Amino acid sequence: MDSRDVPAPTGRRDVAVLVPAAGLGLRLGGGTPKALRELAGEPLLVHACRRVAQAPSVAMIVVAAPPAEVDAVRALVPGATVVPGGATRQESVAAALSAVPATIDIVLVHDAARALTPPDLVEAVAAAVRSGLPAVVPALPVVDTVKRVDTADRVLETVDRTPLRIIQTPQGFPRQTLLAAHAQATDDHTDDAGLVERLGHQVHTVPGSDLALKITRPLDLLIATALLTAHPEVR
Ligand code: C5P
Repeated sequence: MDSRDVPAPTGRRDVAVLVPAAGLGLRLGGGTPKALRELAGEPLLVHACRRVAQAPSVAMIVVAAPPAEVDAVRALVPGATVVPGGATRQESVAAALSAVPATIDIVLVHDAARALTPPDLVEAVAAAVRSGLPAVVPALPVVDTVKRVDTADRVLETVDRTPLRIIQTPQGFPRQTLLAAHAQATDDHTDDAGLVERLGHQVHTVPGSDLALKITRPLDLLIATALLTAHPEVR
C-alpha cells in the first residue's frame, strides 16, 4: 500500500471524523497551507488522517481543504471525503459537518495540525460519546505556572493551575448535538466544545496525549520530527 493511502476502516464504524485543514498557518511560515506542510516527508494532513483511519470506530473522514487545493487534497487522502473549507475554522467544520450522512451517530472534530494524534485517543473519545455523553474533549494538566496580566503585561495575579486543563482534539459529540451547536452559533469559537457548552450541555474530559500536540510554530515541527525519530512506532 502506498504510504499516503488512508487504510480502509474496520470495526464498529459509527463515527465520522471532521478534519478542518483549510487554515493558512501563517505562524508556521513556509508559504504553504499548514496542513500541507511536510513532516518527515509527508504532509501533516496525511499523518493526521492515517492515524484517524486506524481507529476501528471510524466510518468516514471528511477533510475541509483550502478551496484552491481541493483536488490536490483529494489525491493526498483518497480514502477521505474532501470539501472546500471556509474563512474560519468554525466555517470549515460546518462545511465538513454538512457532508456527514444521517446514518452516522457520532462526530469527532479534529485538527490536521495535531498530526501525531494516536488512534487510541480517537477511540477513547468515540467510546465516551457512545456511552451517552453529550461532549467529550481530551485534556492535559497545565504544567507551567499561570499568571493573569493587564493590557501592559503587568502581573495581576497568580492563578491556581490545579483546576486548569489544556484541551486538545479530537472533540466528540452526538451528530445531532454538534449540528444544533453549529446552527445556533452566533460568534466564532476556537473549539467545538465551546459551542456545545453554549447550548448548556456538560462537556466531559478524557486523558489527552502529548503526541496530540498542535503543530503551530516552527518549534512544534522540530518537536514532532524528534518524536517520530524517537518513537518510530508512532508512525
Ligand atoms: O489556525 P489554527 O491553528 O487554530 O487552526 C486549527 C485547524 O483549523 C487547522 O487544522 C487549520 O487548518 C483549520 N482551519 C480551517 N479553516 C480555517 C482556519 C483554520 O480548516 N479557515
